[in-house]
Amino acid sequence: MDIRYSIVIPAYNEEAVLLLTYQRLKQVMDLTQEQYELIFVNDGSRDRTIDIVRDLAKRDTAVKLIDFSRNFGHQIAITAGMDYSSGAAVIVIDADLQDPPELILKMIEKWKEGYDVVYAKRSQRKGETFFKKVTAHLFYRILQASTDIEIPVDTGDFRLIDRKVCDELKRLPEKNRYVRGLVSWVGYRQIAVEYERCERFAGESKYPLKRMMKLCWDGLTSFSMKPVQLASFAGGLIFLAGLIDVFIMVLKLILGGNGINGWNWAIAVQFLLSGLSLSLMGIIGEYVGRIYDETRQRPLYIVNQSYGFAEKNGVIEN
Ligand code: UDP
Ligand code: MG
Repeated sequence: MDIRYSIVIPAYNEEAVLLLTYQRLKQVMDLTQEQYELIFVNDGSRDRTIDIVRDLAKRDTAVKLIDFSRNFGHQIAITAGMDYSSGAAVIVIDADLQDPPELILKMIEKWKEGYDVVYAKRSQRKGETFFKKVTAHLFYRILQASTDIEIPVDTGDFRLIDRKVCDELKRLPEKNRYVRGLVSWVGYRQIAVEYERCERFAGESKYPLKRMMKLCWDGLTSFSMKPVQLASFAGGLIFLAGLIDVFIMVLKLILGGNGINGWNWAIAVQFLLSGLSLSLMGIIGEYVGRIYDETRQRPLYIVNQSYGFAEKNGVIEN
């Protein structure tokens, strides 16, 4: 029988919680009464994660395992899980039970209503530090303000995507992946379901500040040219300030005023030059950004349906 749902579970040193995660997922997925697979991606764990999954796989044919040769990171683990999945819908969920498995049923409901992406939006975060809450809050908003595509705020990787979205994601070869941004980029009908993010069941966060910053940076640089444009803009402003300064001094000279000395000129020149070089850097950045854009090799567009073309399956279904 064809697999209907693929659950992708990235796991990095999650021995303390994995068994329970499996049980909860199984309980929930059995309710669907449809075929499913549980794809555990062992992201180079140094604990017993791999043994636990192996044991599970021996007892339960729904359990599948991708074992990385080393730690490649959360986003890559998710990507591998999607690559190996075969379900008609793919659900990504954290291994630490911060994402409640029960929400999957709600996601499936929405999927059956015809949505292609159902993402879980956190209305609350429990058991996370004030610092994490504030930085996460800020990050999502800055990212949203600085890109043209709509990347929903307060949304992690806990989501359901349709097979066709998964196949499109596979066509995006970029390396510094910010998966949730890519899902937004791909498009299709998307909808949110809200939930309260629970405390980590056991173990500790694998996202220390450094990794969080890397993720933020991947998000910003993959989907925004704003930082470079900001440089050009700031450079332009400084240059303008220099010009105004010069203008005022020349005016003063003409009107026979005094009080202008070498310092004034030096500062004006300083403004003009640094403004100029900053905006030139911005311009170079713009070119580099475009080269980056090309090298990422995202497809130009993604067609949902087409109609009337003999060769390209041109039937509008409904
Ligand atoms: N994870 C992973 N590789 C990593 C870091 C994390 O596969 O290098 C997994 C981890 O096991 C968990 C999920 O990604 O299932 C989210 O990580 P974590 O809970 O540590 O992040 P947080 O919830 O603190 O943001
Ligand atoms: Mg977590």
